[in-house]
Amino acid sequence: MSGGEAPGTAAGGPGPGDVPGAASGAGLRGAGERASGALDGRRAPAARPSGAGRGPAPRRVWCEWAWTGAEDGAPDHGVLVEISGGRITTVAAGTRAPADAETLTGLTLPGLANAHSHAFHRALRGRTHTGGGSFWTWREAMYRVADRLDPDTYLRLARAAYAEMALAGVTCVGEFHYLHHAPGGSRYADPNAMGAALVAAAADAGVRITLLDVCYLSGGLDDRGAHRPLDGPQRRFGDGDAAGWAERVARFAPAGDHALVGAAAHSVRAVPAAQLPDVAAFAADRDAPLHVHVSEQPAENTACLGAYGRTPTRVLSDAGALTPRTSLVHATHLTDDDVGAVRLSGATVCLCPTTERDLADGLPRTGDLLPAPLSLGTDQHAQLDLFEEARAVELHERLRTHRRGTLGTGALLRAATAHGHASLGWADAGALRAGARADLVNVPLDGVRLAGADPARAADAVVFAGSAADVRHVMADGRWTVRDGVHALVPDTARELDTVIKEIH
Ligand SMILES: [Zn+2]
Repeated sequence: MSGGEAPGTAAGGPGPGDVPGAASGAGLRGAGERASGALDGRRAPAARPSGAGRGPAPRRVWCEWAWTGAEDGAPDHGVLVEISGGRITTVAAGTRAPADAETLTGLTLPGLANAHSHAFHRALRGRTHTGGGSFWTWREAMYRVADRLDPDTYLRLARAAYAEMALAGVTCVGEFHYLHHAPGGSRYADPNAMGAALVAAAADAGVRITLLDVCYLSGGLDDRGAHRPLDGPQRRFGDGDAAGWAERVARFAPAGDHALVGAAAHSVRAVPAAQLPDVAAFAADRDAPLHVHVSEQPAENTACLGAYGRTPTRVLSDAGALTPRTSLVHATHLTDDDVGAVRLSGATVCLCPTTERDLADGLPRTGDLLPAPLSLGTDQHAQLDLFEEARAVELHERLRTHRRGTLGTGALLRAATAHGHASLGWADAGALRAGARADLVNVPLDGVRLAGADPARAADAVVFAGSAADVRHVMADGRWTVRDGVHALVPDTARELDTVIKEIH
């Protein structure tokens, strides 16, 4: 979700300081070279977290069934995957299980990408869904949590949230990060302390991260075209102007080969049109991903039309921000012209259905947007289940159009895997093919939800009836992060979530 106008609550006091624990950022071992196409920066050598509990990289994994990209979602039988240096070296279907290979029963998929996350929203789960209200009243609860976080609590909350993602089969997260500064807006000694905490959290959880550093300058846009100043908890989001934002981000050098830095503009409400070209140019200069919330709520369109006489999508297009590196998050309320512009641009549309329905955003024009690439995000983490997000894209489109079958299993899985990874700057991940990063998600068919499924249609069963709880083993960059449903690095993920969330509240 995109937040927005000033809630008028009191700002917290200043709290400058360093990031306890942020230096723990350890990369995924065996991560190999980074994908091209993202911001560069200094990176410390990856170090193994103490007590990591990961076994040696397997050489050969034999998958009873594996989805290797078929459009109809049909998996191949007997797929032998050979791995070296964190990369898949060969994929061969129709094989018998070699004696020296580890066998994965049921269905194996490429690693899942969670393309839109606000890690700190995990602290709101179960606390904001009833009692009426609107997107805007929900946002006030979100701001109260935002006001209480410092680099230490942010690190612990994000580590637990990312560990929950890994348990759900996520091997890469796109973190839409705007909690840059201390409450009240004063700078930490390291002005990127909060971003560094997220990068460290992802390393601790064995998940790759694209830190989408968000330019957030204004507290809202009224329909006369006036941008309000940041107020209350929003003050810690801001860098003054796009040049100040760019200067800070350019200095950020995340530790670990598991991390990339991308760019983001929060929305046309939070970044005035005159500032957007600078954000777009910053991303273009570095060939980096550029993400932006777009038209999640009708009120954004009304304000934008009042201010500029143009839709948010058109404002972004005119600013040079609608490119094949762009991800438009939500894109719920689009005009016909907007849809045409998105399709022409090559931009990815990132859908977050469980959040969009929780916040009563509306239904996107998914079928109209095709063949635009789609990606998936869990956004506020009301649920953390990429299978639920994937099927909801198709099922919501059925509700909107009264037709079944706009998106089949293959298209939904591509959104959850290759398209999601590519939108985050990891074009070499999200597919079971030679040369790709060795990310595997194993989903056996022996649980109560999937028992009785036709193995030859296992991907249909997993996408339309499975859940994150069915994920048994997860490998990222050639290393097991989840074994038998337990996180190898954060074994008591639930306890860590419980402790830090109750501390924040
Ligand atoms: Zn969002």
